[in-house]
Amino acid sequence: MVKPRKIPMRMCVGCREMKPKKELIRVVRSPEGEVSLDPTGKKAGRGAYICSAPECLRRALKQRQLDRALEIKLGDAANEQLVQTMQELLLAKEGAT
Ligand SMILES: [Zn+2]
Repeated sequence: MVKPRKIPMRMCVGCREMKPKKELIRVVRSPEGEVSLDPTGKKAGRGAYICSAPECLRRALKQRQLDRALEIKLGDAANEQLVQTMQELLLAKEGAT
């Protein structure tokens, strides 16, 4: 019998679907209280996971899911910054293929 390989799953804070960790982007709150996207998943701090889709990010921000997950209050400027960074990441990814 072949054992099914266990894939680490995480929940997207935007659509609240469970997805393989690899398909999600980590959002991290640094010990200094700065929130940023962490495509490498290696930054220190409290993290949450989100699909690599601006729609999910916007939804998470609108419903304050990210604030809750990271236990922080994000202002509009920080929100915009995150959406911007996500879009840049996606563009960079497209350019690489
Ligand atoms: Zn999602």
